[in-house]
Amino acid sequence: MSIRINQTSCVGCKRCIEACPGNLIKLKDGKAEIKREKDCWGCTSCLKECATGAIEFFLGADIGGKGSILSTKQQGDLRHWIVTAVDGSIKTITINTKESNKY
Ligand code: SF4
Ligand code: SF4
Repeated sequence: MSIRINQTSCVGCKRCIEACPGNLIKLKDGKAEIKREKDCWGCTSCLKECATGAIEFFLGADIGGKGSILSTKQQGDLRHWIVTAVDGSIKTITINTKESNKY
């Protein structure tokens, strides 16, 4: 499994459910959960929709992540991409979503 869902942070908005191309996420008691963990192929579509940081994407050694965790949060027009390393240190990249597609 590439992702896990922190149900404490989930607000049940269903955006991840709509985004998953494999229909792998469902709502249970108002919180998102993965139906079939082994079928997740880590496309990150759900991660990109989650505004609360509830979805955590495991960055394994195979992609240079050394076991760190990626999550995202939305704050107005700002999207924060948050990487938490195994030692607990955090790096954040913030993108203004209104301007990110301007060219
Ligand atoms: S997008 Fe995030 S907050 Fe919304 S239902 Fe999914 S996990 Fe919960
Ligand atoms: S990473 Fe992709 S396949 Fe896995 S649960 Fe999220 S949207 Fe579905």
